[in-house]
Amino acid sequence: MSLDDTLTALGVKVSPNQRLDRLVYWRVGGPAERLLDISTVAQLQGVMALGEPMTVLGRGSNALVHDDGVPGLTLRLGGELCELNLISADRAWVGAGLGLTVLINRLDKLGLAGAEPFAGVPGTVGGAVVMNAGTTLGEAKDLVEAVEFVLPGGEVRQVPAEALRFAYRHAELPSGAILTRALLRLITEGVEARITQRKALLERRKATQPLDLPSCGSTFTNPPGDFAGRLIEAAGLKGAQIGGAQISPKHANFFVNTGDATAAQLAALIRLARREVLRQFGVLLTPEVRLIGPWPDDALSPDRPD
Ligand SMILES: Cc1cc2nc3c(=O)[nH]c(=O)nc-3n(C[C@H](O)[C@H](O)[C@H](O)COP(=O)(O)OP(=O)(O)OC[C@H]3O[C@@H](n4cnc5c(N)ncnc54)[C@H](O)[C@@H]3O)c2cc1C
Repeated sequence: MSLDDTLTALGVKVSPNQRLDRLVYWRVGGPAERLLDISTVAQLQGVMALGEPMTVLGRGSNALVHDDGVPGLTLRLGGELCELNLISADRAWVGAGLGLTVLINRLDKLGLAGAEPFAGVPGTVGGAVVMNAGTTLGEAKDLVEAVEFVLPGGEVRQVPAEALRFAYRHAELPSGAILTRALLRLITEGVEARITQRKALLERRKATQPLDLPSCGSTFTNPPGDFAGRLIEAAGLKGAQIGGAQISPKHANFFVNTGDATAAQLAALIRLARREVLRQFGVLLTPEVRLIGPWPDDALSPDRPD
């Protein structure tokens, strides 16, 4: 049986040669060789048992997709992998494909809180756990109690949050594992106060971040005791541009697509910022964005010749 026939027999929707620039926040990158819409854990198990090269995307809000696209299988999670199931008054299993804004809205309707750390973070639950995403109101590790994932080969496993060794914008999943859902600890008391905090945070973000242009949010993590944006600005790079890729004049840790940027131009701008901040201040910035597709290991290295 051909690969496409096998995938169809699994009930998976397959879209060949599918544009990814329309799906990811930076609006750059080439096509997925095969884009798969996965709607059940059983489908995911079947696909992962095939042993094909695969990449999973959430909302692509932290993803730099290569201009040549993504070979193999690119997976998107939908259906039961976007469900929210309350198991007690203050705990819910939440699908990895569920959008964070939808999660917050669903909790509001249930009179629950707890997901405030994700206010204004445009990813999915899966992307947020993998990135330990967060804001000044907290991060994923504050509310995740356990996770479920599928391993390459198709085995489903549940582990407590401690197994992920959460750190700043970092979690450790077994190599190649795809997260299917997370058990979240929710809050039943003081919900109104938390909504007020969340709204205030969203207002601050609107005032300080270039939300009108495609970006991936913060391009770099903040080095200990400092801010990546402050260092990039001090290096004289605010507003610097390579082709259509620009270091935002509004917030120097946001690298924006002014309209016709390519992934190569964004990567070159990231290298430029790393090189200059290292040369001027001796600090090597760590990219927060994830590279998707056939990037070389040194794609974002400050030493890579342009
Ligand atoms: C305007 C803007 C503001 C932002 N603000 C913030 C912020 O305040 N705080 C913050 O932390 N981040 C912020 N981000 C970055 C981004 O939203 C987060 O990192 C988010 O958690 C990424 O989720 P995603 O679903 O889009 O993941 P993607 O970008 O699609 O993927 C990110 C990585 O996670 C992997 N992944 C995704 N889903 C799964 C899964 N189910 N199983 C295994 N691996 C998976 C992908 O393969 C990739 O390596 C911002 C981004 C934008 C565009």
